[in-house]
Amino acid sequence: MVTGVFYHPSFSRRSYLTLGTRLKDFPSAFEEIRHPKLRILESPRVSDELILKVHTPRHVEEVKSDSLCSTAWHSAGGVVKAAEMVYGGKLRNAFCYIGAGGHHAGRDYFWGYCCFNDVVLAVQNLYDKFGRIRVAIIDTDAHHGDGTRQLVDLLDFQVFHYCICSTDYVSKDELKIDVSYFSRDYLDAVEEFCERAETFGPEVIFWYFGHDTHVGEYGDIGLTVKDYIDIAKILRELAEKVCEGKLIVVLGGGSIPEIAKESTLAVIRVLLG
Ligand SMILES: [Zn+2]
Ligand SMILES: [Zn+2]
Repeated sequence: MVTGVFYHPSFSRRSYLTLGTRLKDFPSAFEEIRHPKLRILESPRVSDELILKVHTPRHVEEVKSDSLCSTAWHSAGGVVKAAEMVYGGKLRNAFCYIGAGGHHAGRDYFWGYCCFNDVVLAVQNLYDKFGRIRVAIIDTDAHHGDGTRQLVDLLDFQVFHYCICSTDYVSKDELKIDVSYFSRDYLDAVEEFCERAETFGPEVIFWYFGHDTHVGEYGDIGLTVKDYIDIAKILRELAEKVCEGKLIVVLGGGSIPEIAKESTLAVIRVLLG
């Protein structure tokens, strides 16, 4: 079984994040990770029909009129397709590059380099195609995944959403959790996600991965590529243990091209095993 990497040339030409420079080394950087079990796939556009199950018509119109959101359809489309192929057994796991982010997009609002909520659209599509499967989401972007949190509640998804950000919060059903990186060791927080996820029993796992947590980035909390490799290994192992390896990594925030290249290629190497 192969690892899928979803990418679209527009992500390097006019990415929302830092207006196009973050992924400037792609797609040529893929030459560095040639592997018999690696498939580079072009992210397709997400359908309007699917978008309207998650966002309001007004939201769609506002995204259309925001020139920085021009990559939003292919960004979300890659995540939707990746999840469908991983859950359907056509890929072992996947990594999704994006031009516009997802986790700050709620039902009727978007901000912070995000346009459509890519992960929520992917879960909605899985529900449409395979029924209400159990999904775990871990968010290691530096910032709180407010849009994702709002939508999984609003749409009544059967989702365990664990977000490592700047506050602590546990919902009554313990399925919506925020863990503050100010109060905890980062890898300990990831391990706690694994313990809780095992209890929950997901059939697929999403990892919303932002490298804005890296030293020198705009959300710097002192992490490095070595930490991302450790997190990737922990999450890959969890996925192998609980859901036949079904793990979809979705790129979130971050702006520095060298860190984008080094960190994403490192995570993909872990996915390849
Ligand atoms: Zn962020
Ligand atoms: Zn959070």
